[in-house]
Amino acid sequence: MDAIQIIDVTKTYARTAKPAVSGLSLTVKPGEILTLLGPSGCGKTTTLRLIAGFEAPDSGCILLRGREVAGRGSWVPPERRGVGMVFQDYALFPHINVARNVGFGLKSKSGREEAVKKALALVGLEGMEARFPGELSGGQQQRVALARALARNPVVVLLDEPFSNLDADLKNQMRREVVTILKEAGAAAVLVTHDQKDALAVSDRIAVMKDGRLEQVGTPREIYQYPDTVFVASFVGRSNIMEGVMAGDGISVITEVGTVLCPHTHGARPGERVMISIRPDSFEPDPDGRLTGLITTTVYGGDSVEAEILVEVTPGVKKTLMVHLHPEAGTVKGETVRFRILPDFVAVIRN
Ligand code: ATP
Repeated sequence: MDAIQIIDVTKTYARTAKPAVSGLSLTVKPGEILTLLGPSGCGKTTTLRLIAGFEAPDSGCILLRGREVAGRGSWVPPERRGVGMVFQDYALFPHINVARNVGFGLKSKSGREEAVKKALALVGLEGMEARFPGELSGGQQQRVALARALARNPVVVLLDEPFSNLDADLKNQMRREVVTILKEAGAAAVLVTHDQKDALAVSDRIAVMKDGRLEQVGTPREIYQYPDTVFVASFVGRSNIMEGVMAGDGISVITEVGTVLCPHTHGARPGERVMISIRPDSFEPDPDGRLTGLITTTVYGGDSVEAEILVEVTPGVKKTLMVHLHPEAGTVKGETVRFRILPDFVAVIRN
């Protein structure tokens, strides 16, 4: 049974013209980490608040582990939904210690101590029970917030921008730790972020949102390698987007940079005009490659170099391609390189 089912949910706030969330349908499986990813104002937080019960849908319904909690006349208040929430600022009480923060609101006194102990062990904070939030690092505070959410054995944990308050180093570490903790707890989780790196790093699946609607739902690999739309191709990572025509073989697209092998056609038929996304990772230097171009800019990124390459597509017509190259590949501005396009990061996309 799905941990969360959101069925055709629409929510418009008072005094606003456009719905914040519109016709949204989404499921989350038990133990799955799903990330809502999208630009500011696309409806991520509203979706989270609808699941938590801080907002009610205008239409559609929401089920948690098969039980309807909102919609069609039913309403279960937030505290009875079995939802654990980790807020962006962690929302810890500064004047009570870690143990009391984690146990806050747990009804049964007898079970409380045990639940707190278990949750703190899960997040690796044993021995810190007596500390106050002000005496903890940012990462530790986040783990207390997570422990508090998990202490209730929730059906689902909701995390609002969990990594946005952390510096880059800690962010990397906490991404790994949060995944490990959630997986160990076995809880389904929905995480909200506008940071594509967070989403790609921690999610089993990503739901990309735009203007209150879902653009694409898929594994991080599907979303990155085979974006469905121009929006996903340019919001998640960067991409070369160009027009073309599906070739007769049904797996190649004829473009201005030549015929590109594109097995991921999204159902486009031979002869159809299409748009394709070619990720910068699709290009490989090759002395026998069909394309030749001048490196016009390079940005060194340690493990790869992002370069812009000016290619003469037909005599007198030039096009700039964004390309990721290996740092050892002789990527010097002003040099000419020959390369080819690999099909692994190429997909037909919708507008
Ligand atoms: P962000 O990343 O900036 O937090 P978001 O994707 O989480 O954005 P939401 O907070 O869900 O987006 O907002 C979606 C839309 O609903 C926006 O247009 C926003 O202005 C509007 N909105 C959100 N909360 C309210 C509210 N309480 N009253 C009126 N409009 C709201």
